[in-house]
Amino acid sequence: MEKNKAVVVFSGGQDSTTCLFWAMERFDEVEAVTFDYNQRHQEEIEVAREIAGDLDIKHTVLDMSLLNQLAPNALTRTNIEVTEGEDGGLPSTFVPGRNLLFLSFAAIMAKQIGAKHVVTGVCETDFSGYPDCRDVFVKSLNVTLNLSMDEQFVIHTPLMWLNKAETWELADQLNAFAFVREKTLTCYHGVRADGCGECPACKLRSAGLNAYIAKLEGERA
Ligand SMILES: [Zn+2]
Repeated sequence: MEKNKAVVVFSGGQDSTTCLFWAMERFDEVEAVTFDYNQRHQEEIEVAREIAGDLDIKHTVLDMSLLNQLAPNALTRTNIEVTEGEDGGLPSTFVPGRNLLFLSFAAIMAKQIGAKHVVTGVCETDFSGYPDCRDVFVKSLNVTLNLSMDEQFVIHTPLMWLNKAETWELADQLNAFAFVREKTLTCYHGVRADGCGECPACKLRSAGLNAYIAKLEGERA
């Protein structure tokens, strides 16, 4: 019988690491793919490598530096400040077409290794203004990818409708709470685990963590 195989789009952050655990529980075989687009912090690639190694997951790092060549932004250039979107504008961390490209390359890799499933941690709930994190975009791309390669890929988005507290809860349900908290890198300043505490990514992560911890304490009381 054919093995149930999945490719996880993996950055070494909280969300994609939770997705990795989610996939490991569901599929017979899981591989991870990380995209190197000259992130401001090469630390991200290193963290991804370490986590994949810890979990004994086959890990591929693909060179996507062309993305930085085309669309310099706050995630890749140290001279661009990380700002949140104002008045409905996009935050400076937005990389146009990033998920379009990442999911397309992940599907091409899936085709090569005989995987039908692609898993991504994109999420519409804490919608930070990234149009390619929306459910409608992922569904549309799924159809396009299937048509383009005459395949029946399924793109899974386990975090799509979860807020950050619920993502911590999911990690806990997967017995990965401490692992995700200690090993992952979400911070825009390249600080692992609980991070710098100041940047938008750290604030979002810690707000979710605190909400989840408060919920646990409420249940115990
Ligand atoms: Zn930070």
